[in-house]
Amino acid sequence: MTLALHGIAVSRGIAVSRALVWDSALQDVPRTQLEPKAVKAELRRFDAALQEVDVELAEIGEQIGDDLPTELDALVNLHRLILQDPILAEATKALIADRRINAEWALIEQMELLLEQFAAIDDAYFRERNADVRQVVERVLKALRGEIGVRPLPPLFADSKPSAEHANEEPWLIVAHDISPADMVQLKGRHIAAFVTELGGSTSHTAIVARSLGLPAVVGVSRALEFIRNGDRVVVDGKVGAVLLDATEVVVEEYQRKQAILALSRQRLKRLTNTDAKTQCGKRVFLHANIELPSDVSRVLDVNADGVGLFRSEFLFMNRKDWPSEDEQFEAYRNVIQAMKGKPVVLRTLDLGADKTVQVDEGSGTAAVSSGSALGLRSIRFSLAEPAVFLTQIRAVLRAAQYGPVKVLLPMLTNLRETRQALSYIAMAQQQLGERMNQPVPKIAVGGMIEVPAAALSLSGFLKYLDFVSIGTNDLIQYTLAVDRVDHQVAHLYDPLHPAVLRLIHEIISVSNKASVEVSVCGEMAGDVRMTRLLLGMGLVHFSMHPSQILDVKEHLMKTQLVHVQQCIKRISRQFDPDTIEAVMRELQND
Ligand code: PEP
Ligand code: MG
Repeated sequence: MTLALHGIAVSRGIAVSRALVWDSALQDVPRTQLEPKAVKAELRRFDAALQEVDVELAEIGEQIGDDLPTELDALVNLHRLILQDPILAEATKALIADRRINAEWALIEQMELLLEQFAAIDDAYFRERNADVRQVVERVLKALRGEIGVRPLPPLFADSKPSAEHANEEPWLIVAHDISPADMVQLKGRHIAAFVTELGGSTSHTAIVARSLGLPAVVGVSRALEFIRNGDRVVVDGKVGAVLLDATEVVVEEYQRKQAILALSRQRLKRLTNTDAKTQCGKRVFLHANIELPSDVSRVLDVNADGVGLFRSEFLFMNRKDWPSEDEQFEAYRNVIQAMKGKPVVLRTLDLGADKTVQVDEGSGTAAVSSGSALGLRSIRFSLAEPAVFLTQIRAVLRAAQYGPVKVLLPMLTNLRETRQALSYIAMAQQQLGERMNQPVPKIAVGGMIEVPAAALSLSGFLKYLDFVSIGTNDLIQYTLAVDRVDHQVAHLYDPLHPAVLRLIHEIISVSNKASVEVSVCGEMAGDVRMTRLLLGMGLVHFSMHPSQILDVKEHLMKTQLVHVQQCIKRISRQFDPDTIEAVMRELQND
């Protein structure tokens, strides 16, 4: 019988594929320094975890019956050998004792050392053992977390991530408790059909990256890991947020039919690639693209976007242990600017913190650590606390600016003091570079993200200092409604159509337009076709969204009469009743 799980639909599309349960025990590993007297107990805790995992693996070995491939038996034995090997167990214990660090931290360090050594050996056998070592370490980490118990059998592929040799096989459907934005970046370009996670909200960065990959995704599917096993055939409907297990042939065929129709309509949309985005009444609208990494630019070019409206530069800083140097950043920014061939690029300065974290080593020269809290030391606050990191980034952008039009966007501005401080650092970077190059460096346009209600409500003050503004609706909604955007438990309260949110967005657009300061929306609302007419009616001309959404939005606005949508907006702007707002929204969708 088909079992249906429900979650939050965050990226449209349909997938019918095999599940790969993607474990997250290797992420978020606690790192603590131990008191000298705590070392002994920590060593005992580690020994107990090793023992537990050994018992668990032995049990799994016994469960392998004749109906399962014999390789599985060999794999389980291999995992037991790795577990007992002194280069893992004894070396980790030495780290715990010598450096007085907790077992999880020591184990991860030792694993990374081993993997580095494997990588240096030019031998396919050792390379394949990479995944095995990781899987064993994951089991030990889970045991340390007290999560040992009945575990699914190891995945049928020894390597838990599909590699080139499996490219002709069905793509994997990743099922995870949570996937961090940094992990999503690592998954880019891999053979993946869809994502299903137990945690996450519609504007979490995990969802945003899934959307950028054009893959169906459903988040907030509670207990997904309880029901889905490696290799299960799963149907994902990213439009309604459904995840189907054990679907009958009839159901699978129906979804495959829907999948084919969707592929056809995507193909059909391509005809709009080289058409200017204009409303039916002839108003030119600009559709820019959001990117996370320089490699995303090819998708921007594929859909012929009007520019890059948001380059989330912080993604360059993830999955590494050091801060990227000025030269490295310069090259990355220059590559994007050159690829865009004269079209504008808006580079947002480091927006670290909340769900976007980095693992930069201690001793990297920085004192501040970005906060995991959405209200903490994040974003521009972090940059101002770490001027050296900020100045390096600005110098890199200023150098790249010689290769084409680029503007700087400051995230999460809240007050004028920090705005002025950021501007003075930009001027300082300009001067430093001028002195180094022995010639004046041209000024760069600087804009601000309006994503904190305080900034929205005092916008006129900001407009005196900024060349343009961009509305970050993802954070603006989170902060206005006091709803954590990554928490699926309050996802039902995350409402872009809340009257307070609509009022703020309308106000920001109107005030900016009146002051003749360019205003755009770069949050997820800009790429949601249900919001296109609403934003157009409020006077928005510049949209920035993931490349995969551009042609959809273009098609929608080409069927739009501005007079009609402006009349609807007038009715909404005086409304506080959600039902009336919904009714007007329905009317707005009519062609
Ligand atoms: C936003 O907050 O709307 C935005 C575009 O920035 P991010 O999603 O990266 O926080
Ligand atoms: Mg934001």
